[in-house]
Amino acid sequence: MSEIKYNWTKEEILKIYNQPLMELLYEAATVHRESHNPNQVQVSTLLSIKTGGCPEDCGYCPQAARYHTDLEGNDLMGVQQVKAQALRAKASGSSRVCMGAAWRNVKDGEEFDQVLEMVRTINKLDMEVCCTLGMITENQAKRLAEAGLYAYNHNLDTSEDYYKDVISTRAYQDRLDTIGNVRKTNVTVCSGGIIGMGEKLEDRAGMLVALSSLSPQPESVPINALVAVEGTPMEDIEPISIWDMIRMVATTRIVMPHTQVRLSAGRAEMSREGQAMCFFAGANSIFAGDKLLTTPNPDVNEDMEMFKILGLEPMKPFVKKAQPETVEAAESLLEGIGEKPRWTRPEHSIERNEEAKKKAKIVD
Ligand code: SF4
Repeated sequence: MSEIKYNWTKEEILKIYNQPLMELLYEAATVHRESHNPNQVQVSTLLSIKTGGCPEDCGYCPQAARYHTDLEGNDLMGVQQVKAQALRAKASGSSRVCMGAAWRNVKDGEEFDQVLEMVRTINKLDMEVCCTLGMITENQAKRLAEAGLYAYNHNLDTSEDYYKDVISTRAYQDRLDTIGNVRKTNVTVCSGGIIGMGEKLEDRAGMLVALSSLSPQPESVPINALVAVEGTPMEDIEPISIWDMIRMVATTRIVMPHTQVRLSAGRAEMSREGQAMCFFAGANSIFAGDKLLTTPNPDVNEDMEMFKILGLEPMKPFVKKAQPETVEAAESLLEGIGEKPRWTRPEHSIERNEEAKKKAKIVD
């Protein structure tokens, strides 16, 4: 079985990424088979429990309040609505529900309590529960763990070098701190990034250096292809080719052999043949459902048809780790401590945001 290596260099990763495709695919598929069943794919359903109005400025994201997209926002969903969606997801083969809220960071209070209740409710449905809620403190991570959270998603997005071209309202270190807070609990870490945002190959390698140097390495790594949304600063970026996605998936698999590599945003633009090559190259997880938070995704039936053609089967929940115990709210010893959000660069304004506003002919 492949040893886990935590000190990959950018040069080593680029050498893997750039080798002839057939060599890369063979190496990745070999590594994949040592630690995973190549015919099983974990299926997650991503649910946007609070959409839009986010104060952050992630250049790819239509949920950022400052961009002028035609996204329809909504307040935090109710627990019963989330439960109904989770049951539907379970019935169509998902083993995990990932709840996303467009927050900069979690604030203690009623809304967070509501999210904790959602986590308890889904965990009791014998499904893995994941949340992506922005930055969280150690105390909040502990409260989520108590509620039965299985995984927390917080992406690094790109390399540390390219990061400043994508986001200015929080630092790379803030992201690493949140991952560190999750690691202080028994909640697993899901962290990956997006390719096709105008970064260089060195940046893709740099992101993999950062992710693979985390000890332990993230249990799951989503690889997204940018879905350029009108009104965001990245609206004019051309889509990447499927070959970039295949190479990135294969390289991620080799660099992090035990991790679940998740084929995420951008799948709607991929052919079945392209996706099949990604599975061969070591992707063993997908997001299901016709929407990925706000961008299009293949229909569940289409996915199940693809699984049938490829002889793939959806993975059962809790194959990698036991189901967390749910601690009821009243029994919880941990209470919110009212930590305030920390703004890293409060005075910062970004030229390209101003440009995007001008383009949309919107005046403050
Ligand atoms: S990616 Fe998340 S944090 Fe960034 S703007 Fe979108 S919702 Fe906010």
